[in-house]
Amino acid sequence: MKNYQNYRDFDTYLKHFPDEKGYFGPYGGAYLPEKLIPAMEEISEAYETICQSAKFINELRRIRKEFQGRPTPVYHCERLSNYFGKCQIYVKREDLNHTGAHKLNHCMGEGLLAKYMGKKKLIAETGAGQHGVALATAAAFFGLECDIYMGEVDIAKQAPNVTRMKMLGARVIPVTHGLKTLKEAVDAAFDAYSKEYKDAIYCIGSVLGPHPFPKMVRDFQTVVGIEAREQFLEMTGHLPDAVVACVGGGSNSIGMFLPFVADPVDIYGVEPLGRGMKLGDHAASLNYGTEGIMHGFNSIMLKDENGEPAPVYSIASGLDYPSSGPEHAYLHDIGRVSYVTIGDDDAMRAFFQLCRLEGIIPAVESSHALAYAIQYAKEHNTGSVLVNLSGRGDKDIDFVKEQYGYGEELLKENK
Ligand SMILES: *Cc1c(COP(=O)(O)O)cnc(C)c1O
Repeated sequence: MKNYQNYRDFDTYLKHFPDEKGYFGPYGGAYLPEKLIPAMEEISEAYETICQSAKFINELRRIRKEFQGRPTPVYHCERLSNYFGKCQIYVKREDLNHTGAHKLNHCMGEGLLAKYMGKKKLIAETGAGQHGVALATAAAFFGLECDIYMGEVDIAKQAPNVTRMKMLGARVIPVTHGLKTLKEAVDAAFDAYSKEYKDAIYCIGSVLGPHPFPKMVRDFQTVVGIEAREQFLEMTGHLPDAVVACVGGGSNSIGMFLPFVADPVDIYGVEPLGRGMKLGDHAASLNYGTEGIMHGFNSIMLKDENGEPAPVYSIASGLDYPSSGPEHAYLHDIGRVSYVTIGDDDAMRAFFQLCRLEGIIPAVESSHALAYAIQYAKEHNTGSVLVNLSGRGDKDIDFVKEQYGYGEELLKENK
């Protein structure tokens, strides 16, 4: 068991973190241009009131059950477990959540909040398009307009997701300046929001950005861990020895981890090591980064020689962000969560193993968590490990086939 501050329970932890200004220890906060401060304060105040109301809670509950298909199951991977030894591997099937990943959990929450606040439009940026698709889905459900800012380069690369967003009725607005990718799209979306905030709400795609987003997105994602903890207890009569999830911005992992934060359970966040340890070859910000402010919050981040966000790489486009949410930086500092790394090839081997041994095609992002769980199972050869399978891999199959075929070479290498 790792050293950690002992919170009496999960509720006590949630009450203490973040503080009123959105800080988790030294991390978090809201570092904003003057013109956006009233907008964020409006969201924060509205959220604190609305999220307590029985009407909001009940409506979100109904949406999760009837529209999203929650609760998603926990599944015991018996064949995968037996293949590696005696440690039992379980997966929380967020791939079965509507639209195929956990992202809809916070998008539906943000959409419902927008509706209660009387807003007419959802605004966001997207990189690979996964957040854009989830938000466009929420907008259609609530009858809201949806403007998604996306770099021209990403629009060309992510054609199927662009089609999905448009099919769902969203406007995809090309961003044509600078490198024409995610960073420019963030700037453009913030810019639009500062002009339109009376009628619109900005929706961040992970536990990132200025307060109150890291808290709000976290609260909406904890449904994953709350369900998983209950389901695992019911299935086995005890808690897992370890819980594992992949960390990009950090939303699926924080949602999985927090309900276990006061339990005697080891928690592992898996960062992408990409092609290796050299700056630019990975996106393992908590392992190799330093404290800094970007995109409106203070956290641990990867910087270049000028102190700007460094270029990052991972085979999983959902994980290649140069920082992680402030709550992860805090959990890292106090040692409650261990942040480990998995490179492209190990993640892809796990991808093929889950396909062949269990009949589940996982997202390349989720495959990083799975690869670490497999490593854990091999090292321990006893006990149990619960993995958050954050999404399904249908979006990845063309690219995977091009790069790795059907996995023949990778599967040869070792067990
Ligand atoms: C976006 C995404 C991630 C990474 O985002 P987090 O905020 O770190 O959860 C992980 N898995 C899938 C399937 C995704 O789409």
